[in-house]
Amino acid sequence: MATAVSRVVLITGGSRGIGLATAQRFAALGDNVAITYNTTPPSGDFFAVQCDVTKQTDVERAFTEVEAKFGPVEILISNAGITRDGLLLRMKEADFAEVIDANLTGAFRVAKRATQTMLRARTGRIIFVSSVVGLLGQAGQANYAASKAGLVGFARSLARELGSRSITVNVVAPGPVDTDMTRTLGAEKLEAFAQLVPLGRIATTDEIAGVITFLASTDAAYITGAVIPVDGGLGMGH
Ligand code: NAP
Repeated sequence: MATAVSRVVLITGGSRGIGLATAQRFAALGDNVAITYNTTPPSGDFFAVQCDVTKQTDVERAFTEVEAKFGPVEILISNAGITRDGLLLRMKEADFAEVIDANLTGAFRVAKRATQTMLRARTGRIIFVSSVVGLLGQAGQANYAASKAGLVGFARSLARELGSRSITVNVVAPGPVDTDMTRTLGAEKLEAFAQLVPLGRIATTDEIAGVITFLASTDAAYITGAVIPVDGGLGMGH
């Protein structure tokens, strides 16, 4: 069902996977959706701007372009993320630093820029896409898990800082989802992963997108600082 008023939504990493499914959900609600991509321009129907979230100048330019097209961003989905997996003793410092820079510092860059105009508007929604791995840990993903755990502390701090201006800040923590990111693991590993999930399967991108759009809805106006697991029960208890 379309929302009464079209909102301005910016989704980082909206060219593929969870970000693209989220863009499609918001578009179906009648919102003005802008997506960012890093390397590969998407072929779809969305207003897309190039933005490497590891570059402050890209973030500034992307927001300026979106503001010129639709006006200030009212809903920010910080979704862009990367992996550089490896066991600790083999993990290069660059692998650690690159993942933190894209997944955590990138989230800082876009949230800080979005907050400038949300504070003036005295309203806004910020949703970070973390991972079950940030809560459970994962052998071979120490860098990724650290970046995703960092988002929780970051979001909860922002929830406290920005709550008095009616800006909510929440985290979605997906389990394994059917995207390019997991497809690189190969069918066998993915099936083994699915067996660890109480629901016995990995998620569709739309199942994550539905929770993200809920957190941006008026029904979620009193939810802030929350970490919502969308993981088929994989992280239960954390
Ligand atoms: P994906 O299919 O690999 O897509 C990643 C997106 O992020 C792409 O749009 C990519 O742009 C963009 N991106 C990568 N590096 C970027 C950078 N430096 N600056 C800006 N954009 C960048 O990923 P996904 O599986 O949909 O994951 C989306 C989010 O969900 C990530 O934060 C991921 O950690 C999280 N997550 C995924 C899973 C899963 O199982 N898939 C589970 C839990 C959490 P280009 O296409 O231009 O490279």
